[in-house]
Amino acid sequence: KALIAGRYNIYQKLGHGSFGTVYLVSDKKAKEEEQLKVLKEICVGNLKPNETVEANLEAQLLSRLDHPAIVKFYTSFVEGGSFCIITEYCEGQDLDFKIQEYKRSGKVFPESQIVKWFIQLLLGVNYLHKRQILHRDLKAKNIFLKNNLVKIGDFGISRLLIGSCDLATTFIGTPFYMSPEALQHQGYDTKSDIWSLGCILYEMCCLNHMFTGHSFLTVVLKIVESKTPSLPDNFPRELDAVLHRMLNKNPSLRPSAAEILKTSYIDHHLQIMK
Ligand code: ADP
Ligand code: MG
Repeated sequence: KALIAGRYNIYQKLGHGSFGTVYLVSDKKAKEEEQLKVLKEICVGNLKPNETVEANLEAQLLSRLDHPAIVKFYTSFVEGGSFCIITEYCEGQDLDFKIQEYKRSGKVFPESQIVKWFIQLLLGVNYLHKRQILHRDLKAKNIFLKNNLVKIGDFGISRLLIGSCDLATTFIGTPFYMSPEALQHQGYDTKSDIWSLGCILYEMCCLNHMFTGHSFLTVVLKIVESKTPSLPDNFPRELDAVLHRMLNKNPSLRPSAAEILKTSYIDHHLQIMK
């Protein structure tokens, strides 16, 4: 198969995203041990020239991000009518896959593993928020694993392209991680990402979504009105307290990622990790 953009060779299809196909590629211009990368081909349909410019600007911004807990975004280009992005390859599946796998086989994550992953995610989110960048779609499916480290992926670009994609009209995101204010169109800010991260923490502990229901509407109503469930008794109360602060219905009462990192329970584990 032909080289894409003169340097990427397609190895295999990794999957289908909501906006197009995802491939494992080799970057022949990279050092041998860094050649495996991911190419996301995004269906942009009739992206207008100014929208392409905007998407490329956003991509430039993302390519400047460099943090161990964020999937490295290398570059973007338009090829054969598709908007393509090249990112780091994470061989360990996504967190949602991992959670389902554990659930199926009756296993649970040890507390030490949960806290390590949670701290990595806090550091990644803190890195983004310090730069005034919102993720907007934090969920287990967008957290990737590489060498058993978690990496936040999938942001920015998809939001930009959603309006110009045919799929956009049929695409309804998963409500499970959405904050009350986002669901009620009362604005989205860093604290809405914190809510979503709290939902992910709960899921790592319980292998279930925090708010479940048989329909989209039941889930939405629970998010807006129900009390936050507590972690089972085998988890430390300090962790449960962090969770409840992150899931305050009032965004301004939620702690920032930096504040959570400073709580004594989290800071203690952070020092051990160093
Ligand atoms: P969506 O648009 O639905 O969010 P994704 O971009 O998450 O889709 O990609 C779909 C699939 O492609 C994922 O489930 C995963 O299997 C694979 N994938 C995406 N990004 C990566 C990556 N960086 N490393 C490894 N696999 C990936
Ligand atoms: Mg995704």
